[in-house]
Amino acid sequence: MEKTIKIYEGKAKIVFETVAPDLLIQYFKDDATAFDATKKGTIKDKGIMNNKISSRLFQILEKEGIPTHFVKILNEREMLIKRVVIIPVEVTIRNIVAGGMSRALGLEEGLKLDCPVLEYHLKNDSLHDPLINEYHIKALKIASLTEIETIKNYSFKVNEILTRFFSSINLDLIDFKLEFGRFKDEEIILADEISPDTCRLWEKTTGKRLDKDRFRRDLGNIEEAYQEVLRRVSK
Ligand code: UDP
Repeated sequence: MEKTIKIYEGKAKIVFETVAPDLLIQYFKDDATAFDATKKGTIKDKGIMNNKISSRLFQILEKEGIPTHFVKILNEREMLIKRVVIIPVEVTIRNIVAGGMSRALGLEEGLKLDCPVLEYHLKNDSLHDPLINEYHIKALKIASLTEIETIKNYSFKVNEILTRFFSSINLDLIDFKLEFGRFKDEEIILADEISPDTCRLWEKTTGKRLDKDRFRRDLGNIEEAYQEVLRRVSK
């Protein structure tokens, strides 16, 4: 499958059309951003690692009954995906307090939550992805009630599947962000990527951070951390 026209370029990925109307190619870049893109850099081979990690995780999720946009991996940096209209909401699930939740509520990072916490953030960089709830989503016609229910059910199920999977490779899934889209105007499916850019992963036995916080907080050994996640995910 060949790329034709570039239709979108984001911070970490580029999306191209193909000759097939319902299929797109998602290209993974090495660019990294944090804090609303005020911090910029590149992580060597991040695109290659995230393409492989995401592909593997989407395959695991599909096998467990979660519909995703993943079709197949094409090469080191490209994945064939179903064309969706992205719902402009980032769904975050948190199992352990870190990052934004720690800052917003003055809680210590590492605090285990009694149950997973689901948050919605409106996808809008200039507004700093504000926290919203289901009423905003419904009232602003961002998604219907049925769609919200589907998104919520899939998100919690993804959390169960990935928590179990990461645990089997000695990683704690602290929190993560998902994006969903409408395929052919009707079906809600999981889209975007799932990688150390979008998940916090701490090594169970040592607490070592194997995710984008190494870039956000200048912790060093960023490439090594992503490589380690890829190595474990590929086992
Ligand atoms: N996240 C993401 N994209 C964003 C914001 C957050 O993928 O634009 C991920 C982030 O990597 C983490 C989870 O969502 O795994 C929760 O992030 P948080 O809200 O704590 O924000 P941050 O601390 O990254 O500002």
